[in-house]
Amino acid sequence: MPGKVRSHINQNESLLFERSSPGKKGYQLPDLDVPAVDPAAALGAENTRREIEDFPEVSEVEVIRHFSRLSTWNYGIDLGLFPLGSCTMKYNPRVNELVARTEGLAWAHPYQPPEVAQGAMEVMAQLEAALAEITGMDAVTLEPAAGAHGELTGVLMIRAMLESRGNPRRKIIIPDSAHGTNPATAAIAGYGVANLKSNDKGVIDLEALSRMVDEDIAALMVTNPNTLGVFEEEIAKVTALMHSRGALVYMDGANMNALVGITRPGDFGVDVMHLNLHKTFSTPHGGGGPGAGAVAVKSHLEPFLPAPRLTRLDGRWNWNWNRPQSIGKVRAFYGNFGVLVRALAYIMAHGGPGLRQATLDALLNANYIRKGLEPYYDLPYQNPSMHECVFSDDRQAKRGVRTMDIAKRLIDYGFHPYTVAFPLIVRGALMIEPTETEGKQELDQFIEAMVNIAKEVENDPLFVLKAPYDTRTSRVDEVAAARKPVLRWKREDAGPAD
Ligand SMILES: *Cc1c(COP(=O)(O)O)cnc(C)c1O
Repeated sequence: MPGKVRSHINQNESLLFERSSPGKKGYQLPDLDVPAVDPAAALGAENTRREIEDFPEVSEVEVIRHFSRLSTWNYGIDLGLFPLGSCTMKYNPRVNELVARTEGLAWAHPYQPPEVAQGAMEVMAQLEAALAEITGMDAVTLEPAAGAHGELTGVLMIRAMLESRGNPRRKIIIPDSAHGTNPATAAIAGYGVANLKSNDKGVIDLEALSRMVDEDIAALMVTNPNTLGVFEEEIAKVTALMHSRGALVYMDGANMNALVGITRPGDFGVDVMHLNLHKTFSTPHGGGGPGAGAVAVKSHLEPFLPAPRLTRLDGRWNWNWNRPQSIGKVRAFYGNFGVLVRALAYIMAHGGPGLRQATLDALLNANYIRKGLEPYYDLPYQNPSMHECVFSDDRQAKRGVRTMDIAKRLIDYGFHPYTVAFPLIVRGALMIEPTETEGKQELDQFIEAMVNIAKEVENDPLFVLKAPYDTRTSRVDEVAAARKPVLRWKREDAGPAD
């Protein structure tokens, strides 16, 4: 291309495969000073291969530069506010990473016998006790690997308990504001889903619920505060109603960031719930890293908890496998141990008053953003916001600009987009959760960006529709990317180098 400058910093980094040329390598070995052995003869022909087709041949520094450059394209919590709602993308103190990397903890073998794992078992026991105290529940398992896995564990326990009473029942009630994992969980546990429509305040309609709960209903799955960021004010009446009809209440605790230190699900009648330790209790969330979905239960569900259980015997920790009513093991080892260490470190560093303060700060920040944006964006549900606020794009849609377009423009202002088009009960939703870890300056800058975009929509909607302008690629075909992913590189597909 005429005038094109060749630069070693490439704005569209080529694939490692495209940098490959025969003979380049990232190592140098000394000459062999022992007799050469034919690998096929030593290992068996079926265990060896001569060549990996199209395996990139590159030098060490090329590999390092390639991945270092790619890493600078990521937006992360270390760069700025991450306003994704329903996910609690907060900054997590580095000191908890340090604790998780402590030699004795990081190098413990997950199946080390109890005699040489007393410290690790003590960490888990203390965490179970702390989470029971925070949630107001009687017992906790740390086995499940994430929130959705915790849901499945909890609902399987509900099934086991109802079965032990003679009838597992057939359906689970789920409000229309629920996270998609809730109905998926119910279905995998063999239950049908009864969909409960929220009322005009965005919360559970007690009368509609009462009409639904019959002999067929095993449980209600409720998120509190719900995905609108609104607290279910009548939750105590809701749980009493379910119990009076022989049904149980599962709480999706992914939003515990809004409750810790203020109220306890166990006190408002919840039977079983999960916590996303990777959302509420300090593990960097997102990017598909390990999580932990601790599940807390009331005593009537305790016999059904996954085996084994931590137990104290003659002054030492041990594993109790003798659990005849247990739903069984739900994961290898005893959960994602590193995440458990971070959670306990976070809880102990804050202490009770500190955890409560973190919650209050999360609520303050969400309401600060809400007040700043209310004059510019439509807020369909007016109840007080908890840890997140949900706007709709109704006003901007009149100018042809939808929530996705606003999110794309936000990228030009240096922010990661908020959660787009969820929850589904809000048309064109903009879901914003700042978390407790943001300061006033950052919040003000975010509000300013969103207000500016609202003004841009008024003045020049077409300009917003073409955003983002400051990225390497602008609008991509997200549907094609999801439906027809290109997962294999073929030499024929490579363009000319640079
Ligand atoms: C994140 C989330 C889940 C699922 O948790 P994972 O750890 O991602 O499996 C469930 N419900 C709600 C409300 C959530 O925000």
